[in-house]
Formats: sequence, C-alpha cells, structure tokens
Amino acid sequence: MPTDPSIQQPCIHCGDCARACPDALNPEALFFALVRDDFAAARGQRLDACSECNRCVEVCPSHIPLLDWFRWGKSELAAQAHADALRARFIARNSRLARERAERAAARREVRADAATALPVQTISHADVLAAIARGRAKREKHP
Ligand code: SF4
Ligand code: SF4
Repeated sequence: MPTDPSIQQPCIHCGDCARACPDALNPEALFFALVRDDFAAARGQRLDACSECNRCVEVCPSHIPLLDWFRWGKSELAAQAHADALRARFIARNSRLARERAERAAARREVRADAATALPVQTISHADVLAAIARGRAKREKHP
C-alpha cells in the first residue's frame, strides 16, 4: 500500500484531480476505493482505464501519491484475474474428468448389457464331430 506520510496530507475533496484527468476518471473515488481494499468499486471506477499520465498527482494539493495507489491497485486486480482464471481452469478440468468418467462407465454398462443379451455360444461335442464324420463317410460310400 503506497504512502509517503512525510508530505502527504488528507484529501480535501477539491476535485482538482478529476478535472485534470484526461481519461475522465475520478481519481479521488479511485483512491478511496483502494484505501478500503474495495477492488470491485475500483473496477467500477474504471481503474484499468487509467493511462498513468500522473496529472492527478501533479495537481493534488495534498500530495497524495495517487498514481502509486493506482499502479498497486492494477497489480492487485491483475493478480485476482489470474487467480480467477486458474480457478476457472481447475473447475473446467474437474468437470471434464467427471464427464469422461461417466462416459466410460456408461460404455462399460452398454458392453455388459450387450453381452447379457447375446445368443449363447454353440458348443459342439466330440461325439457330434464323430457323428458328422461318420455321416460324411457314409454319404461318400453311397455316392462314390
Ligand atoms: S494518472 Fe490516471 S487517474 Fe490520474 S490523471 Fe492520469 S489517467 Fe487520470
Ligand atoms: S486533488 Fe487530491 S485533495 Fe483534491 S480531491 Fe483529488 S485526491 Fe483529494
């Protein structure tokens, strides 16, 4: 959290910073949002649109290091966005793995169901084979 207590004075709400901002931001509101660690408010005040021109700092009669605050706030927002992206990737990966597990389980159930309804395998006994050979032989003897 940037501070320079040796020269900094409290904000007197003069509005000079807002009038000086070329990006039509409200540096005072941004400053107080960041002091409160209210990053949602800082985002709502378009912190990311700050071009870091330093004009608000140049005109501030209270010598508040506004730009230091804004740079710190931007880095915090970037870190939060990175953490959010990692969390989203983690959740997406877990749901993909769960879906693939469910698909594999469904496929296994399908294979088991097919196997249960398949026709029984025909078994041929040794006696059947001998009988077939004997029939063939008899037919050949009858019609050589
Ligand atoms: S540093 Fe950012 S907030 Fe300050 S005047 Fe420049 S653009 Fe506006
Ligand atoms: S210029 Fe400085 S004192 Fe004036 S409103 Fe902005 S932050 Fe406050």
